[in-house]
Amino acid sequence: HTYTPLEMFMPLYFKLLYSFLWSLAWFFSSAPALAQEQILNLYSSRHYETDEALYANFTKLTGIKVNRIEANENALLERIRNEGARSPADVLLTVDAGRLWTAEQMGLLQPVKSPQLESRVPAGMREPNGMWFGFSMRARVIAFDRARVKPGEIRSYEDLADPKWRGKLCVRSGSHLYNLSLVSAMIDQHGEAKTEAWAKALAGNLARSPKGGDTDQLRSVAAGECQVALANSYYYARLMRSDKPEDKALVEKVGVIFPNQASGEGGAHVNISGAGVLKNAPHRDAAVKFLEYLVTDSAQAYFANGNNEWPVIANLQVANPALAKLGRFSYDTRNVAALGRNQPAAKKIVDRAGWK
Ligand code: FE
Repeated sequence: HTYTPLEMFMPLYFKLLYSFLWSLAWFFSSAPALAQEQILNLYSSRHYETDEALYANFTKLTGIKVNRIEANENALLERIRNEGARSPADVLLTVDAGRLWTAEQMGLLQPVKSPQLESRVPAGMREPNGMWFGFSMRARVIAFDRARVKPGEIRSYEDLADPKWRGKLCVRSGSHLYNLSLVSAMIDQHGEAKTEAWAKALAGNLARSPKGGDTDQLRSVAAGECQVALANSYYYARLMRSDKPEDKALVEKVGVIFPNQASGEGGAHVNISGAGVLKNAPHRDAAVKFLEYLVTDSAQAYFANGNNEWPVIANLQVANPALAKLGRFSYDTRNVAALGRNQPAAKKIVDRAGWK
């Protein structure tokens, strides 16, 4: 058999035609998929080792790769704002409802409707319109010198204003978000006038002008510089889990209480680590999937445990010896969105109170 010139070129012809048709099919079938490439850009101010496993598991379950951009909280918000409509950011993950509220006020977030998020995250731990959701919970606790403060001598945030603590209290700057959130909660509970009187009295009890972070306040109690202090629970829990001799000594010397436990006192002030979907998220579906993933039981345990916090899902057990030792407590169940809403008023009160 001899090939005619046409026959000789047939296979090539077919090949070209085939590859052309194939490209066409590929283009039309996968172009939309390409536009929604399986990635998620996570802007996070969290950086805990356990978060690695948390994100790896999300990729394993969904095939969605997680790109992380980490920076401190305010830098993240600035960056997203500057990136504007072309921001690659899908999810903002940060701490304190006050900061999530700020992101919302800056117009950076979009609302999410998800039956899963709404049923799993308690109503008080998420923004009512779905702008952001809490995934773990921390409490602002009162630390005390076990040797010099008798049990029951200090029981509430209100007690911090008692003149008997004059010159004995250590707290970080009143303008720090953790304190602004506490003041915001006080405003919600007592109104502005009473809260201002409280803040003034509290500032009058300071052992020294505020400096350092929450852990520094705990160290100051251990050093005998003050007898009572305010700190977020995870800082104390971290010291409880530390193997360093000086941290062990601190925990032995310094105890903590959950404030406002008596009925009618409102419970301990709690705040969240949380996340929201960004307004210009290029991978919105992946972003919602990620938030939904964070409320699954196993992700909840990882997420909370990474920073010695409690899962937002009530009664979910976390194998964390420090949290187990701290025990159960009653907490303020009013919506944490108030912590943002009252923030401008809280700033003014802290200023006027001289709580620098
Ligand atoms: Fe912190």
